[in-house]
Amino acid sequence: MVKQRKAVALISGGLDSLLATKVIMEQGIHVEGINFFTGFCVEGHTHAIRQKDKVKPKRNNALWVAEQLGIKLHIIDIVEEYKEVLINPKHGYGANLNPCLDCKIFMVKKAYEWMQENDFDFIITGEVIGQRPKSQRKNTMPIVQKNSGAFDRLLRPLCAKNLPETLPEKEAWVDREKLMNFSGRSRKPQMSLAKKFEFEDYAQPAGGCCFLTDKAYSEKLVDLWQHRGHKEYELDDIMLLKVGRHIRPTDSFKLIIGREEGENNFLEGYRKQFISIQPISHTGPLVLIDGEPSAEDLQLAAKIAARFTQGKNESSVTVQIDRHEAPSWVLTVKPFTSEEIPSEWYV
Ligand code: SF4
Repeated sequence: MVKQRKAVALISGGLDSLLATKVIMEQGIHVEGINFFTGFCVEGHTHAIRQKDKVKPKRNNALWVAEQLGIKLHIIDIVEEYKEVLINPKHGYGANLNPCLDCKIFMVKKAYEWMQENDFDFIITGEVIGQRPKSQRKNTMPIVQKNSGAFDRLLRPLCAKNLPETLPEKEAWVDREKLMNFSGRSRKPQMSLAKKFEFEDYAQPAGGCCFLTDKAYSEKLVDLWQHRGHKEYELDDIMLLKVGRHIRPTDSFKLIIGREEGENNFLEGYRKQFISIQPISHTGPLVLIDGEPSAEDLQLAAKIAARFTQGKNESSVTVQIDRHEAPSWVLTVKPFTSEEIPSEWYV
């Protein structure tokens, strides 16, 4: 009896991994998916909180892709292990803080370990040569294969015909002729393949699969590292960088100010971990204070926070400052004008 071959697919939730998996499933291979949670993923709950994103479906796209394909999805938390990849990427960063090549190597390595533990035969990814300038170039493809340890058990179905044969092709587990030869940045081949497979509704990630490709997000992370004096971070830190306005008036603290109801609700969950400022005389957002502010700093913070309340044009606004293990402080301040909050303070 012919052995049923099994592949594990890296599922980001985007169109490429959806198509790559489908191409292999069409050849009778049993496929299961892996989605790695780094904390920087665009998917997940932070996407769901914003009012302005209301028209977008509130879904985890990786799970949605798995459901479309009818495959099992394993969501694996790699938050801790990923820190080393981000803090010390051997191949450096992309345009922002995205360590794409090291990230890819790391994820394929983890998938390879999973493959061995679970008695699967090979790994598939949705990579396409030339699609992304840093991590998906023809000369980086062998680096991922080699440095991950997966070697020729890593198959990229969407561009396989442009690459050397892999083990699944050599062993005829899959028919190379039925694999694709996509290359370059154009999405047209993917679109027409999606049409052929009758996939109509799929995620179109702009720029990349994680917040590390985002300039504004990366700048906030650099600011966090600079002011802490080291490159460490916790999951809460990187979640909070996705939310609110971040204003740093001095080196000792920054304010995180909710921009809308969804963000305020999200920040509410962190109230006990931070010093917080809540306006009481007027409606306004909850503000979290990250850092070690002095009493003078808190007065400054209160004036800034007051600027974002409905009393911003009034002569005074009263706020309550809640501090850990210290009595709450009720303070009446004159709100800052927008000119008194220089643009350099915005992180
Ligand atoms: S965009 Fe983010 S998740 Fe995707 S390869 Fe680059 S660093 Fe990794």
